[in-house]
Amino acid sequence: MLLYTAKNGEYESLTAWLQREPLRKTNVYVNLTNQCTCACTFCLRNTKESRESNSLWLKREPSAQEVIAEFAKYDINNFNEIIFCGFGEPTLRLEALLEIANYLKQRNKNISLRINTNGLCELQAGKEIAPLFQGLIDTISISLNASTATEYLRLTRNQFGIQSFDAMLTFAVNCKKYVPHVVLTVVDCIGKTEIAACQALADKLGLTLRVRPFE
Ligand code: SF4
Repeated sequence: MLLYTAKNGEYESLTAWLQREPLRKTNVYVNLTNQCTCACTFCLRNTKESRESNSLWLKREPSAQEVIAEFAKYDINNFNEIIFCGFGEPTLRLEALLEIANYLKQRNKNISLRINTNGLCELQAGKEIAPLFQGLIDTISISLNASTATEYLRLTRNQFGIQSFDAMLTFAVNCKKYVPHVVLTVVDCIGKTEIAACQALADKLGLTLRVRPFE
């Protein structure tokens, strides 16, 4: 599925949703890749079974033009928010993401665009990426996962090692200059003490923390 809706951990293609609920507004998710620089302990991508049975698993990555052709079928004014998310890390398809975001903003400059990311794109690229989002992306939601570098690395098992935690936080702070809403997220199952420590970290950095339900 390239474009889909999501509710309570259930995914549905946008086409199927609109056939069922033609008059209701919805969030639309853009699925650009299965790839990720993390291998989080809790990620659905980790098991072969869930990869093969999950309708979000892409057999091949779509081009920007293919995604744009999909959006061209719809009245995007009926969407609440469009989110680059998918089964993998959307910033690994940065060029396509920016081209699609440009197209959507040209169709409606007020359409709200969000990226859900692991926040490691600048570490991977070795340069600042955040400025590219200026005027295009309204919200960036970054998985904080944990309050310490050690726990973050244990959970995300990312490719970059212990430096990744500070790099992710630096990216979040960089984004504040270019993106109106920068949000760090954690899941509710990490426990009250750890959530409080994450909140203190977010406060120190001047960022919003969102505690989301674990799905
Ligand atoms: S960052 Fe997201 S997509 Fe990547 S492994 Fe972790 S949970 Fe999965």
